[in-house]
Amino acid sequence: MADETYVVVGGGLAGGKAAEILREEGFDGEIVLVTAEDRPPYERPVLSKGFLLGSDPVESAYVHEASWWDAHDITVRTRTTATGLRLDDRLVELADGTTLGYDKLLLATGSWPRRLDVPGADLDGVLYLRTMPEAERIKGILDAGGPLVIIGAGWIGLEVAAAARTHDVPVTILETADLPLQRVLGDRVAEVFAALHRKHGVDLRLGTGVAEIRGDAGVTSVVTTDGDEIPAAAVVVGIGATPQCEWALAAGLAGEGGIDTDASMRTSDPAVWAAGDIAAAEKPRLGRRVRVEHWAMANDSGPVAARSMLGQDVTYDKLPFFYTDQYDLGMEYVGAVSDPATADVVVRGNADPSAGPLAFHAFWLDDGIVGAAMHVNMWDDGLEPLKALVGTRVDPARLADTDVPLTDLATG
Ligand SMILES: Cc1cc2nc3c(=O)[nH]c(=O)nc-3n(C[C@H](O)[C@H](O)[C@H](O)COP(=O)(O)OP(=O)(O)OC[C@H]3O[C@@H](n4cnc5c(N)ncnc54)[C@H](O)[C@@H]3O)c2cc1C
Repeated sequence: MADETYVVVGGGLAGGKAAEILREEGFDGEIVLVTAEDRPPYERPVLSKGFLLGSDPVESAYVHEASWWDAHDITVRTRTTATGLRLDDRLVELADGTTLGYDKLLLATGSWPRRLDVPGADLDGVLYLRTMPEAERIKGILDAGGPLVIIGAGWIGLEVAAAARTHDVPVTILETADLPLQRVLGDRVAEVFAALHRKHGVDLRLGTGVAEIRGDAGVTSVVTTDGDEIPAAAVVVGIGATPQCEWALAAGLAGEGGIDTDASMRTSDPAVWAAGDIAAAEKPRLGRRVRVEHWAMANDSGPVAARSMLGQDVTYDKLPFFYTDQYDLGMEYVGAVSDPATADVVVRGNADPSAGPLAFHAFWLDDGIVGAAMHVNMWDDGLEPLKALVGTRVDPARLADTDVPLTDLATG
């Protein structure tokens, strides 16, 4: 393979890990990683947690220090955006009008925050959080004391709110749904997050949207759909993200929104793989295709794609996994549930922030079978017993009983 060229498009965790594994597994041809950003690959979770909190330097996000890429003979082309694909010619078209040939190609272009569309949305100080420079700007707002208005009570909005409140910055969150994280967690567990943020002083306004953002050169206030005007030094928008792969789908790869792959992360074109946020991967264990925008997907599917590119017989069949840290809540979630709103939710332990430290398990059951499980601050039990329960039939009454060990619960 010494005369072959493998191209990776995307400078996030999935692309970075894939390039690393290609070399680690002995690929001795050319590896070119192109990224639209101005720096080598990095991961994102620390940007809304340790970095904003002031406990981790922004550099801790890098997949490798800058010199590592040269030392491993991997060409990282920064500020380079792929705009098109010629599958038959095995060429990537770049924004500067040139092309890049490949023998095998990995697409790992991640997602991009949905943009807010209200009057004033383009004012200076209306911020999104996806990149290091954006995180640095938000950190500056927190250091200056705010006040901050956050649009959207999803993961990003809530993590920014937790960091801001830890710095004593006044925070208002506007969320159009009835609860934060309602769509992903369902009401029972979403209520825990609402109570947690209110306990920490967030002005959490549910069922409330943004009508207008006001200011001259920069933001000064936000007008809600209820007509209230809230002072703001900045607005952080966290209203979801969309996969960045229209240009690749337009070339003829199969997929709707994301790019379809098999369990080895190979797309409908035999020379092209996809990984991370954009990959809608077949999951043999779940019997369906799943696309998730989580760190673990990027961390694990990039290496699987790399090994598959090298001809190894690998599949990515781990359960979806994600985590968050907010104030003193550390959470891990594993599995996937078809609809959190209709699933039966069983909670065991203390899920009431006003009744003492949060420490509980939650399970989402579809027809008596555990689809997903999570723990909050139950680090001694860890994740393994939860993974073992996903896909098994349980008795909900025993599940709720903290005297029954997690390992004694499965009935079939
Ligand atoms: C602030 C923040 C906090 C998060 N926290 C958590 C968490 O706690 N837990 C969790 O599970 N997940 C978390 N996530 C989600 C997780 O970070 C993502 O799932 C992960 O980053 C996806 O990695 P990726 O490599 O697929 O894509 P990305 O990290 O998005 O990287 C994609 C890269 O491709 C580049 N690119 C895009 N299009 C092109 C193009 N056409 N040409 C060239 N380059 C291109 C982009 O500029 C970017 O560098 C968080 C995300 C953010 C933003």
